[in-house]
Amino acid sequence: MNILVINAGSSSLKYQFIDMQTEAVLAKGQCDRIGIEGSNIVQKAGGKVYKVIAPLKDHTDAFDAVVKALTDPEAGAVADMSSINAAGHRVVHGGERFTRSVLIDDQVLRAIEENIALAPLHNPANLTGIRACGDVMPGVPMVAVFDTAFHQTMPRRAYLYGLPYDYYTRLRVRRYGFHGTSHRFVSQRAAELLGRPIEQLKFVICHLGNGSSISAVDGGRSIDTTMGLTPLEGVLMGTRAGDMDPAITEFLCGAEDKSAHEITSVYNKQSGLLGLSGGLSSDWRDICDAALAGDDAARRTAEVFAYRIRKYIGAYATAMNGLDAVIFTAGIGENSHDARRLIMEDTEFLGIRMDEAKNKARETFISADDSRVKVMIVPTNEELAIARDTLEIVGKR
Ligand code: AMP
Repeated sequence: MNILVINAGSSSLKYQFIDMQTEAVLAKGQCDRIGIEGSNIVQKAGGKVYKVIAPLKDHTDAFDAVVKALTDPEAGAVADMSSINAAGHRVVHGGERFTRSVLIDDQVLRAIEENIALAPLHNPANLTGIRACGDVMPGVPMVAVFDTAFHQTMPRRAYLYGLPYDYYTRLRVRRYGFHGTSHRFVSQRAAELLGRPIEQLKFVICHLGNGSSISAVDGGRSIDTTMGLTPLEGVLMGTRAGDMDPAITEFLCGAEDKSAHEITSVYNKQSGLLGLSGGLSSDWRDICDAALAGDDAARRTAEVFAYRIRKYIGAYATAMNGLDAVIFTAGIGENSHDARRLIMEDTEFLGIRMDEAKNKARETFISADDSRVKVMIVPTNEELAIARDTLEIVGKR
């Protein structure tokens, strides 16, 4: 079975086409600037590059372009559309309704629509993607895989905010958490690599990319995570501020004569690595290189970045009353030995001993052989996780 994995944004559409027998990626591509001048599609399949600059006025046009690219006689991956057996869609917010991936029907579409208030930037684009895909590929079963679903096992002591309770019951204001597909994939893979049943293991997963979140996974279940009602909460990210005093909003609105909306946009788009470094960069590589070269703005940014993550590692070890492994994943977690070294400084009391040579060599186990708590690098693969869920659900029909 071949599965098309889709991540639809408001003006972009990323996809991977995966052969589930071998789990090989047959094609990988992206439509950009949908509905904007200069729209295009780029695809790589079997070493061949397919690139077309063509007007894509909406997501339906984009899916038509995807089918054309996948079935292109020169640079495509399959002969015709009948080889696209199912589609798996990434959906950002499943609210409290979705605790796992589901086959998409009208009811599911309505429920995703009901969650728009919780993810006004993402869910509408995800819905548009699903509808357009259904129009272009009628009869192809579609599955929704939610970023929030894995964290639905959090107990209420972890997901409730200290706000009037009726904000939760009436408005569903609570911690949801995101990157769930990645946290789940990585925790399952880590248990395999450790050769132990996941039910017996306590993990802190550090998903560190442009967006970052940490989770506490106890026995294969998420019991806490750093992102909240929205992806703004938690550790320092590329452009997001992470945890802070909510009273800062009113203070800044007055001091800067801005609306709450404008200030929230600063928290999301001009803060984090970018903001704290005084505009140097939102990209960890730039911050890290500048910090190593002695730039003070970059050094303070790297210090805050690493410190916040280390604080959560300690907090989550306590939340689980134990720890078997700290796991690094995503762009920064998988690639930056400097980030891992900085984060893991002064954690010996937890039973952690790093092996810097293994860390630099990017081995799977980067703690010393006698370290009681293991430290691991486990590459994430959200597309494969979506494809596996899709296969399981479509296979059961
Ligand atoms: P992601 O959102 O998972 O694609 O991760 C993006 C982040 O990973 C950016 O901050 C990059 O600077 C960082 N990153 C990617 N590759 C490397 C690398 N080789 N070394 C250090 N950081 C990296």
